[in-house]
Amino acid sequence: MISRIDHIGIAVNSIGDAIQLYTEVLGLKVKDIEVVEDQKVKTAIIPVGESKIELIESTDPEGTIAKFIESRGEGLHHMALAVSDIDSALATLVDKGIALIDEKPRKGVENSRIAFLHPRGTRRVLLEIVES
Ligand code: ZN
Repeated sequence: MISRIDHIGIAVNSIGDAIQLYTEVLGLKVKDIEVVEDQKVKTAIIPVGESKIELIESTDPEGTIAKFIESRGEGLHHMALAVSDIDSALATLVDKGIALIDEKPRKGVENSRIAFLHPRGTRRVLLEIVES
């Protein structure tokens, strides 16, 4: 069902400030910066081999990323696993008793279809699955 780690999401106060570490220090390149209105975030996509680092900045003080940073500070936010068919993956997860945040796929970065699993069923790791 899962083919690879699609991306690691890192919550940051400011993409502009955080990006220097990944570009100037670590030598990676930013592929894209995108606002995802639905999720009230701006993201920077930084490819690393067949995976990506996704820096996530809140565009709204009431957004989930702003609240995450408020309570836990900047840092690792979620891990996304790639699946070829998200509808079938979600059905399989439900069959196996895994609680979902998103019962149906929603739109993610780069027009992808994504869904989050509920962290209570994943040892407190926020897992996203993404169709790709
Ligand atoms: Zn993500």
